[in-house]
Parts: sequence; structure tokens; C-alpha cells
Amino acid sequence: MTAHDERVLRLVPYGDSVTMSDLVRGSGLSRPTVADVLGRLRESGAVEEAAAAPAGLGRPAKRWRRPPPRGMFGVVAFSRDAVRVRVVGGDDRHGAERERRLNVSLDVQGAFEHGHRFLRECLTELGAPADALSRVVLGLPCPVGGPEEHPRVRGILPDWIGIRPAEQLRRLLPGTAIVMENDANLGALGELTQGAGRGGADFIYIKLAPGVGAALILGGRLYRGAAGLAGEVGHVQINPMGHPCACGARGCLAIELHIAARQGTGRRHGLPPLAELFRRPDTGDPAGRRILRHIGALLGEQLGALANMLDPERVVVSTDTTPLPPTLLAGIRDGIHRAALPVLSDLPVVPSPLGIRAELIGGIALARSGIGGGG
Ligand SMILES: [Zn+2]
Repeated sequence: MTAHDERVLRLVPYGDSVTMSDLVRGSGLSRPTVADVLGRLRESGAVEEAAAAPAGLGRPAKRWRRPPPRGMFGVVAFSRDAVRVRVVGGDDRHGAERERRLNVSLDVQGAFEHGHRFLRECLTELGAPADALSRVVLGLPCPVGGPEEHPRVRGILPDWIGIRPAEQLRRLLPGTAIVMENDANLGALGELTQGAGRGGADFIYIKLAPGVGAALILGGRLYRGAAGLAGEVGHVQINPMGHPCACGARGCLAIELHIAARQGTGRRHGLPPLAELFRRPDTGDPAGRRILRHIGALLGEQLGALANMLDPERVVVSTDTTPLPPTLLAGIRDGIHRAALPVLSDLPVVPSPLGIRAELIGGIALARSGIGGGG
């Protein structure tokens, strides 16, 4: 594309059309030059003739516009400790992905810069133009609901207070619809589309490490609840005398698991304790196995109570490490066995086959569905 081509193309907006005279005036180029440029741009598919406005007197001037952006879909999934991006075109199987470990909680700017850069890199890898994204889903590790621009970051992502994530991304991607969604909800959608929930109608999805996230698929659809809080099993109080939790309550499942894992690993720095614990080999070390089983059982008891209320087909468990420690799964099954009705006590508890990629797959499914998001 020549410098003249670029100068003219910049004057052709999306969603509107211009005449040759507009382009001559705007570019400062001669009419024959603009005509040549338009010929080239049309041949390359960068512009097309728009339907002419109803004629007044005489022949209406030809109008030009950009064809609608090619339908690419993207997801930017922020975990507390990573940015992951996936972009696909017409075919889900051919996508491009990027990932970077990053303290998303503390480095808000870096998170968005990486998200944006990775989207562009993925588009380039797929041979798509930089403006080809029609819809991007933004996954956040906090409840998303109510007024679209305000996720509930308090107590979870303190440095994000006052940030409007969708608006931030929209500024970087003008013309692209941005949809926000909770990370565990995206994971559940991923499992429903291509993972352990495929073909199922009712399951509970649990995302462990670094925190405790959960999502519900009911009747084959994601159940968000009135304010996007559905399935927040991590903040069920399991010990009224327990440790203060970031949510403001005391003795929530999430904080009690965190403390148990910290005691189990004996580490106060580095990886979050649950993540650290799941990375350790699940063999030998009886003390490590005991703590895994205990953590699993605490979670399982709450899942058993939830199972009594919802009667799901299965529970899908995901961590960002694979494979999932078998002792953890055994602990979860113990807990469910104790807390659920006898008829539900053998509820299948299965590890996620997709792992952390479930969020990327679910994000693309949500982007394609066209649900949510303004413009
Ligand atoms: Zn809490």
C-alpha cells in the first residue's frame, strides 16, 4: 500500500461513506490520483462502493466505504497472575494464542498493554488486518455484573478500584464491541463448549488457585444470578471464628483454604499457597498429601451442600496446573460424600481436560454468541 493509498484510506470511515470530492478535499491529492488510488483499494478489498443515496437532481455521486471488518473474535483473559489472549476467525480450530505471567493485580497498565499487544500479534499471525476484531471478551478474576462498566474489584483487585476495564480496552480497540465476564464463568462456558461439560446441562465448575472461583451451568446455560455473584462458594462461611477474609467477612472457605495451604507449604512468599501446593508432586510426603486431602474435603463439603440444592450431573475442577493432584480430587469426593444426600454422594468429580485454556475457549464462545457488550 503506497503512502497515497494510506492517506486516502484513512479518510474512509467505518459505518459511513464518502464521495470522491470528499477524498480529494481531505487528501489534498488531485482527482485523477484519488481515482487511481480508489481503483487499487477496491481491487485489494480495502474499500467498496456504497449504495448510492436516493437521487435528487442528476446522477448521484458514487460513494465509498470500508467493507465491514472481517469477523474475528478475541478474548483477553486476566487472571491475578497472568494475561492470556486468543483470537480466531471463522474457524475455531485455527486460532492464535499468547500468554504472559504478570501480576495483573498490581500492574493494571501493563495488563492492558500486554492484552492489546497480544491481540495485534495474534491478528498478524492469522493474516488479519489490525481492525478485524468485531468482538472481544474481557475476562476478569472478580464478579462482573450490574452496571457493565463496574466490576466488583474491591477486596480482590484493590489497584483496580476506579478502573473501567471495558472502557480502557475500548479506547485501544475503537469499533470493537467489548464484553466483560468473570473468569470462572468463562471457564465453565469453555467446559460446556469443548470440555468436561460438553453435551451436559447442569454442572458446577470450580477454579482453584490462586483463589477459589466457581460458576454454574444450569439448563445448558451459564447462570450468572442477579448481580453476577452466582456460585460464589469461596465466600461461604465455614468457620465463624476463622480468619478475616478480603470480602469483609470471617472464616470464608477461600481464606480458610488459603491459610491451610500456607501452613501446609510453610511458605509466606512466592506463589500463592494453593498454587504452590498444587505444583508439588502428589507422591511421597504424607504431610503434603494430608493437607491436600484436608483442603479437598473442606471444599467438597460446600460442594455437597450446593449439590443438594442444584442436583448437578457433575463437578468439574480446574487449576492452572495439570494434572490435578489425585489426592485433592479424593478429598473433594470425601467432602461431597459426607455433606450431600446419599443419592448424590457419588456425584462425579472430574478434572478439567482444558485446564486454564477453558477460559479462552469459553471467551471465544461468548464473543461469537453476540451476547452482551455495547460497541
Ligand atoms: Zn470472604
